[in-house]
Amino acid sequence: MQAVQYRTLGCAPEVAAVPTPEPGPGQVLLKVTAAGACHSDIGLMSLPAERFRFPLPMTLGHEAAGTVAALGDGVAGLAEGDAVVVYAPWGCGGCRQCASGQENYCPHSARLGISPPGVGAPGAMAEYLLVDDSRHLVPLGELDPVATVSFTDAALTPYHAIKRSLPKLVPGSTAVVIGAGGLGHVAVQLLRALTAAQVVALDVTEEKLALAREVGAHEAVLSDGNAARRIRELTGGLGAEAVFDFVGASPTAAIAAQSVAIAGDIAMVGIAGGVLPVGIGAVPYGVSAVAPYWGTLPELHEVMELARAGAVHIHTETYGIDEAPLAYARLHAGKVNGRAVVLP
Ligand code: NAD
Ligand code: ZN
Repeated sequence: MQAVQYRTLGCAPEVAAVPTPEPGPGQVLLKVTAAGACHSDIGLMSLPAERFRFPLPMTLGHEAAGTVAALGDGVAGLAEGDAVVVYAPWGCGGCRQCASGQENYCPHSARLGISPPGVGAPGAMAEYLLVDDSRHLVPLGELDPVATVSFTDAALTPYHAIKRSLPKLVPGSTAVVIGAGGLGHVAVQLLRALTAAQVVALDVTEEKLALAREVGAHEAVLSDGNAARRIRELTGGLGAEAVFDFVGASPTAAIAAQSVAIAGDIAMVGIAGGVLPVGIGAVPYGVSAVAPYWGTLPELHEVMELARAGAVHIHTETYGIDEAPLAYARLHAGKVNGRAVVLP
């Protein structure tokens, strides 16, 4: 089968022929119907040799939708042809965190060599994907796989971050979304669907700001040296009750620190290498900061309900498997509006 692989350190991904996997006991083989391209893949491919800890070549793609193609021995409750999406932050399945659905915070997965598909394990940008356990599958039902595949990360990750701050996002409050890309343009919609907060989106191009407005941002502000001042103006000088940074670079961390309200929340979701200094004097009194990772299995069911209700629409650009390297090049250049989805 064809697969989109990161094959050589520091080089662009390539399309290569690889053996089609077969499901072992407990595993499920999916015929992939759609696979999303995430900026984290670019982060991974930008790591220097000493920090890249997975064997190469590695098939990319951690947002996956598919239909059941074959079941390994002992798998019950699924039938060939069932349409599903994949919960990809796989944990050990046996610990307290995993038992509560928080496999994204499994403390054992790294030691046990358990990695998400596309981030260590063979990923979804291929004709077939091996899923380690049927508990990682969520029914897609009648939803369109292309429109829905990115709910598994581009919606799940901001949902997880936003859910924590919901008690602060009361009517009259403000939420700031820094970076209106794949995750950020979904975050704007989640905030509009779940809260009555004023939503202010920041990005660096007029095109992205236009998308933010189109999907519901009350204000769309250029992410420059004036951004924090503008947010203060829009909040009567008080700052934002919650700031979600979907870039995570030094300048955006600085904007977050300067625009958050007293006792507000900052979520550093983006992984562009910036750090947020936290302490009295660095952020307003009472601020709490978090570095959230992906989302929980129950939360994936919840965002799928939002998809079903039509409350969130992910803007997608579609690419054939041969065009996947182009999709990554465009994502790297900041040219993708919404999410790039590959159809293997
Ligand atoms: P994306 O490329 O689709 O979106 C990033 C957006 O940020 C783009 O619209 C870009 O124009 C904008 N941007 C760049 N520099 C900016 C700046 N200085 N100020 C404001 N906006 C700026 O990326 P994505 O797939 O949405 O991912 C966003 C980030 O989240 C990445 O760093 C990714 O690795 C990370 N991520 C983290 C998790 C997690 O679990 N923590 C999960 C998925 C993705
Ligand atoms: Zn991702």
